[in-house]
Amino acid sequence: MVDEQGALWFPAAHHWDGREEQHPRYIIIHGTAGFTTAQQVGNFFMQSATQASTHYVIGQDGTIVQCVHEHDAAWANGAITGLSGTSGDGHGNGHHDSWWDNGPNPNLLCITIEHVKPHEDNSDHLTDAQKQASFELVSHICQRWDIPARKADAHGGITGHYSVDPVNRARCPGPYPWDELFAYLDGEHMQINLNTPGISAFFSQAQGGAWHCTTPGHNFVIGGAILDFYRSFGGNGLCGLTHLGLPLSNEVGFGDKRVFQRFERGVLCYDPQRTNDRPPGASDTVYLMHIDGGPGQDPRVAALQTQVAQLQQQLAHTTQTPHNPPQ
Ligand SMILES: [Zn+2]
Repeated sequence: MVDEQGALWFPAAHHWDGREEQHPRYIIIHGTAGFTTAQQVGNFFMQSATQASTHYVIGQDGTIVQCVHEHDAAWANGAITGLSGTSGDGHGNGHHDSWWDNGPNPNLLCITIEHVKPHEDNSDHLTDAQKQASFELVSHICQRWDIPARKADAHGGITGHYSVDPVNRARCPGPYPWDELFAYLDGEHMQINLNTPGISAFFSQAQGGAWHCTTPGHNFVIGGAILDFYRSFGGNGLCGLTHLGLPLSNEVGFGDKRVFQRFERGVLCYDPQRTNDRPPGASDTVYLMHIDGGPGQDPRVAALQTQVAQLQQQLAHTTQTPHNPPQ
């Protein structure tokens, strides 16, 4: 995982300590309009004469330099310029995105990533190494801070510098593979979090990163590896909420560190040794259980099985002795 510790540290001369109790909700993509390596850009931001900074710089060789801690705010995005509205696709149309209007200084809400682009007009396309590093870094920042892993809107997300400053930075970042980024984030990296629209209506934060379901009748806690599974299961819609529904129990232990947890539309098992169920090639520690038998069985299924057996008996009896024998 690319994390704060994994990057080369070039402390910037300027930043704001903390975020004035704001939580990062946006990732802003930039191009450097000059320079040839991430280390050069890191050195530039270390000079006190440079009245700007950034959290990260990604070189054309994929090197990641960090200049400001994520929990601090960088001097990265300048002032909000232009008319309020919907920003352009990077070519600039004179409008900044209107959600910046009533918020605090955008720098308090943003984590900023510069991409080395030697041409002063930012016309360079990302190299493959740069693109790979950028996608992974964006994905991990989204996970660390529960930032929506999608195109920015009023709730948060990912956009370019032009979203804030369409007058002076219409060409920042210049070409960036947005569609590819969002497809990448949508695919195996699709994860819901408490900021995902629709999720906070059902869940609130509990201790240790767990989620507490706030819907009456479903007041259970989802945590650990089962929560990780729930947050990405299905890979579309609202993931676990769409495909499994709400929890019907807390975790229930059944020996050997195994637990199961019932949901409206399925039972999840945490079984790190795969002692309960080991189909060929299986290695996931969390999986859907069989619900027609075994420890994860829904008690309603057993009741239905009994009912079915009784009906089958009745049916057999009826077939043998017709109520209306031929006269
Ligand atoms: Zn910029």
